[in-house]
Amino acid sequence: MKIISDIQELRDHLRGQNRASFVPTMGNLHEGHLSLMRLARQHGDPVVASIFVNRLQFGPNEDFDSYPRTMQADIDKLEKEGVYILFAPTERDLYPQPQEYRVDPPQQLGDILEGEFRPGFFKGVCTVVLKLFSCVQPKVAVFGKKDYQQLMIIRQMAKQFALPVDIIPGETIRADDGLALSSRNGYLSTEERAEAPELQRTLQEVREQVLQLNSRNTNALSELEKAAVVKLVGRGWKPDYIAIRQQSDLAPASNESLQSGEPLVILTAAKLGKTRLIDNLEI
Ligand code: AMP
Repeated sequence: MKIISDIQELRDHLRGQNRASFVPTMGNLHEGHLSLMRLARQHGDPVVASIFVNRLQFGPNEDFDSYPRTMQADIDKLEKEGVYILFAPTERDLYPQPQEYRVDPPQQLGDILEGEFRPGFFKGVCTVVLKLFSCVQPKVAVFGKKDYQQLMIIRQMAKQFALPVDIIPGETIRADDGLALSSRNGYLSTEERAEAPELQRTLQEVREQVLQLNSRNTNALSELEKAAVVKLVGRGWKPDYIAIRQQSDLAPASNESLQSGEPLVILTAAKLGKTRLIDNLEI
């Protein structure tokens, strides 16, 4: 595997490749990331991965400085997956000048859910992803459904800018107890790690309740959301949101969308101690 940090060197190595398949990450790789590498291999060749902890998408009180950086272990994992190039730019490589041009996603997608609790997050994500696409010029790029809203926003960005990149979704990989794998799981204490699968269990309960809903009460869905929040609070969580949304546009699910069989998704973010976890479940 070639490890490249310089944009020009990356371009030189990829010259003439028009089927490259790309997986951007922030490193500290786990099975979830590696499943995306395998999916990328099915959709293009060569597979290019990137590791870059993107300062632009972190808020001032978030974990940019403490975000786990495990480059050598990550390199070993990517070597085993047969990744052809690891693009691992420094901040100076990727942002040689202050990044003043940014991609601002539309409010109705970028300022809800994660965007409400992490202002500017998706602007930072879209900006770095567009820049990485410009560096790698992949034919396809793979993103995990674990970050459901991010996947949707990147898809829309690719569509609205007519980027010549197919966005491929990868399923969420979980631990045996149901906890979605995440680099941030490493922050959890032993007790918190034992409690953490409750987040996914709660989403499963909400899904069951939605499927059994035969109430004409227009508030039924928001009552289910509230009850799930109350349950998690009772177990010591600090939920930011539990939201039942339409898969198509992440707009709130209504009784009509429920009745018409519109595909729905339940999304959540909640803090356990100091660790903020996100997860989702499609209905
Ligand atoms: P990150 O390094 O957290 O920025 O994630 C890089 C990519 O891996 C994103 O597309 C994530 O959605 C995806 N990802 C993160 N966790 C998982 C998981 N448990 N299963 C599948 N994909 C994941």
